[in-house]
Amino acid sequence: MASFHICHYKSTFQSKAHSPPNQSPPSILTSQVALISKYTPYKPNCTKFNISIRPKHTQIYNHVDQSIESSSTAHESPLTIGIVGFGNFGQFIVKVLKRQGHNVLATSRSDYSDYCQQHGIEYFRDVDGLCSQQPDAILVCCSILSTESVIRKIPIHKLKPNTIFADVLSVKLFPRNLFLEVLPPGFGIVCTHPMFGPESGKHSWAGLPFVYDKVRITENSIQEQKCNQLLSIFEKEGCLMVEMSCEEHDRHAAGSQFITHTIGRILSHLNLESTPISTKGYETLLQLTENTVSDSFDLYYGLFMYNVNATGQIENLDRALETVKQKLFGRLHDILRKQIVERVPMQGLAHKKREVSTSTAYFLPNTHGIKDLNSLAMPSPPRERKEEAVPLAPD
Ligand code: NAP
Repeated sequence: MASFHICHYKSTFQSKAHSPPNQSPPSILTSQVALISKYTPYKPNCTKFNISIRPKHTQIYNHVDQSIESSSTAHESPLTIGIVGFGNFGQFIVKVLKRQGHNVLATSRSDYSDYCQQHGIEYFRDVDGLCSQQPDAILVCCSILSTESVIRKIPIHKLKPNTIFADVLSVKLFPRNLFLEVLPPGFGIVCTHPMFGPESGKHSWAGLPFVYDKVRITENSIQEQKCNQLLSIFEKEGCLMVEMSCEEHDRHAAGSQFITHTIGRILSHLNLESTPISTKGYETLLQLTENTVSDSFDLYYGLFMYNVNATGQIENLDRALETVKQKLFGRLHDILRKQIVERVPMQGLAHKKREVSTSTAYFLPNTHGIKDLNSLAMPSPPRERKEEAVPLAPD
């Protein structure tokens, strides 16, 4: 049922893909839709695989989720979690997994064996070795851009048939659809997005939102119990648990996270620095800039390219800047126009101009002063009016 919108995306993509060759190339938005909808499973598969894709209503828990608590008891044995992608975020999240007593395995493109040895993590130079250990859950922490190639290289046949696949990608519809396409029906799927990272969550995760969508979990099974145990890791840290569909997540994230990152990226080009008279607002902007650029550009690009709502937000931002500029320059323009119209009589309007000019505010610069816009900020002293000196336009 909930796949309705996704099926709509697919048909949009298909109709573009079959358009005649002389049509204009697909827009950025079309490419985004294509990337995301590429992985949309057909509805018949949903029935065949008995996928529980139900419409999700957002649920927020600022206390332990009862459904999760009921099936995760104090006697549970720790999970074995295989992290795929051990960069900035993988290393950030692993500290908590270890502290809570879970067994952690890791693999990544780069070699992190020294780091892992020091931190009691079993490191595998390739994903085959990690899968041979048959972890309860695979936690995908690689970049959004590399996720497809990384997932397709995973030797699924080496894993237990009820393995749970979870991800932490900052976009959600894309990994959800990819998982549904690539993973066999018995595999569990839970898509998550911790709405914090190494900077914002360095002191504590308490109160920070954690979004999740149990896309495909077999009810009343050991898989469900392990899924709840996985989610309870974040609850135990005090995260604000938000159950939300992947689609809804992407809509909200484009209007919040993507805008935040975009503003941070724009500000970073201004080379702003702290000053002795910085306001709190300004310091907040400096902090935002620092946080934003500490994330990789790949991450930001992934937010743009793999969230179909991002292009609209960039356009909104553009329009908003235009509106603000128009308000500023529009007012300035009014002042300048008033100057020109009232001080320089136009053809056929000479008499009228003279009349009007008597009411001209003395602090406005004369037509010569218009060349220097600073004169608008520095009122000139009142002058003696010499109307005869104002050149009249020839008849
Ligand atoms: P990132 O630049 O998005 O991802 C870096 C990770 O991707 C590293 O593990 C890197 O492996 C791997 N990777 C990059 N290109 C690859 C390729 N071509 N092939 C295979 N692996 C590749 O930075 P990140 O901050 O660590 O984010 C990781 C994930 O967490 C992303 O999906 C992001 O959306 C999500 N996330 C991040 C934050 C945050 O605040 N940073 C918050 C929530 C969620 P190597 O290190 O081995 O090169």
